Amino acid sequence: MTHRVLVIDDDPLFLAMAEDLLISRGVRHVTGLATGADGLAKIKNAPDLFDLILLDLNMPGLDGVNVLRALADLHYSGAVAIVSSEAGEVISSVRMVGEMIGIRIAGALSKPLRAAELDALIRAVPETRRAQALRAVSRADLIAILDTDRLVPVYQPQISLKDMRVSGAEALLRLRAPDSSLVSGAGYLLAAETHGLITPLTIRIFEAVLDDLLAWRRAGVPTGASVNISPASLEERDLPDALSSRVRAAGLKASDITLEVTENRLLDFGADTLEVLSRLRIAGFRLSVDDFGTGATSIDQLRRFPFTELKVDKAFVQGAENDAFAHETLTACVRLASLQGLRTVAEGIETPADLKRVQTFGLDVAQGYLISRPLSCDDFLAWMGRQPSESLRARVA
Ligand code: C2E
Ligand code: MG
Ligand code: MG
Repeated sequence: MTHRVLVIDDDPLFLAMAEDLLISRGVRHVTGLATGADGLAKIKNAPDLFDLILLDLNMPGLDGVNVLRALADLHYSGAVAIVSSEAGEVISSVRMVGEMIGIRIAGALSKPLRAAELDALIRAVPETRRAQALRAVSRADLIAILDTDRLVPVYQPQISLKDMRVSGAEALLRLRAPDSSLVSGAGYLLAAETHGLITPLTIRIFEAVLDDLLAWRRAGVPTGASVNISPASLEERDLPDALSSRVRAAGLKASDITLEVTENRLLDFGADTLEVLSRLRIAGFRLSVDDFGTGATSIDQLRRFPFTELKVDKAFVQGAENDAFAHETLTACVRLASLQGLRTVAEGIETPADLKRVQTFGLDVAQGYLISRPLSCDDFLAWMGRQPSESLRARVA
């Protein structure tokens, strides 16, 4: 059964209908994007995230055939279903192109989508190897591990681009392996989303972050932290109280915490999501849109919802010196953010050139391997003790 589907189609009505239909057929993660370029940026970031792409053939800009070619270049490993109202022979020649360049074509769907055709398709498409491996974590495994302290946050420092001072740290989930090393928590995240346990996992990490913030304060480091929240948790109306009460019990302030909304499906911003976001803001939390530019958050949503921070996706940051599209995206992000009074964060800063660029564009905060890899709670304190601002200032001077 297919679990993650990306829909690329320039028709907003089709996107909305496809999303509803896919979710009603039991697909848990649906992302809809309006252009081939957006779809490719998403796949470039995560070539094996999706099991299936529904690809429209007729789009302005890059058409479906251009996108197939680029997918092959990116070594996309999932399947593609062609969606088109073109005649049968057009579809079959495109199908052949795909197969000749090594893309697995799972089938063709005509517009409008029909539930029975879609059902047959998503049943037939196997999950990618990675997804199968990730799913090896059963519900029971997950419940068992939630009771231990083996799921821990690591922290990636963020620096203010004005003065190179540390302005915060993003908490990222890791699994403590039996030899005490910290390994990727991606499998547990996907499993938690699949088994409907993402909110208990989020709360577990949130509690661990509060403990770590208290430890930092005892050591004289009053830094705040960002915590990632999956969209599914934003539909749970008791989330604001669950988080606020824990912050209060710890004697910390909600404004010490930024909640990053990671969008892995179209945020529909129904009444529940909007209520939860509003109440989180009222409670004093800061709210960040993560991976902006490749995800599904629209400019309109940016205007209407109570975000405080815009986190530009690394696709527009890394090695993008000569990339006109990345250039325009960064410019637009900074303008939009200033109109809305949002703080801008650039993620994925890997080189001094990346850092210089985002500084020149006027972004507020930077995060990435150049500044530091994600660090355990203790290592973060040790890193802070080594006066990182001084050496960073020297490095970009
Ligand atoms: P994200 O929130 O966009 O986090 C940034 C990811 O980029 C992290 O991967 C980080 O380690 C990586 N990264 C940081 N600097 C660089 C760099 O300079 N270059 C490159 N190429 N990558 C960099 P990680 O830790 O594997 O997390 C992946 C995603 O998993 C996160 O993306 C976030 O969406 C999700 N995630 C992580 N922890 C949590 C969590 O506690 N809860 C939820 N709901 N999601 C989480
Ligand atoms: Mg994040
Ligand atoms: Mg991000």
